Amino acid sequence: MGRYCEICHRERPHEQFSGKGRGRVICKRCRKRIPKAEIQRILERDEVFGYYCDQSNISAKNSDRLEILSQSPRPGISELATVVLEAAKVAPHRRRRREVIGRERPDLLEELIQCGLEEPDAV
Ligand SMILES: [Zn+2]
Repeated sequence: MGRYCEICHRERPHEQFSGKGRGRVICKRCRKRIPKAEIQRILERDEVFGYYCDQSNISAKNSDRLEILSQSPRPGISELATVVLEAAKVAPHRRRRREVIGRERPDLLEELIQCGLEEPDAV
């Protein structure tokens, strides 16, 4: 039994984690191999995807955070956060979100598909 690395998404032995700061969730191998800015980008990307795909509702607090992420200098994060923020305004609840956005904001649905947040031909 080890711990889960948020970058390589693998379970690794406890001694692979430093126990301090980011070291708690990122294994030593990833910390050595991947530049800091890239680690930050991956974490921010996962965070945005989490709000959209994993949560049943995007809360006002999440939207505040998305607002901050929409200013992120990390490549692609600003666009991603902006799209999810917009989706949260139209349909904060995951249930029937695609349907609602598809009906009210087909342009936004197109952007969500381009960002990989929605499947191109899901029903
Ligand atoms: Zn790792």
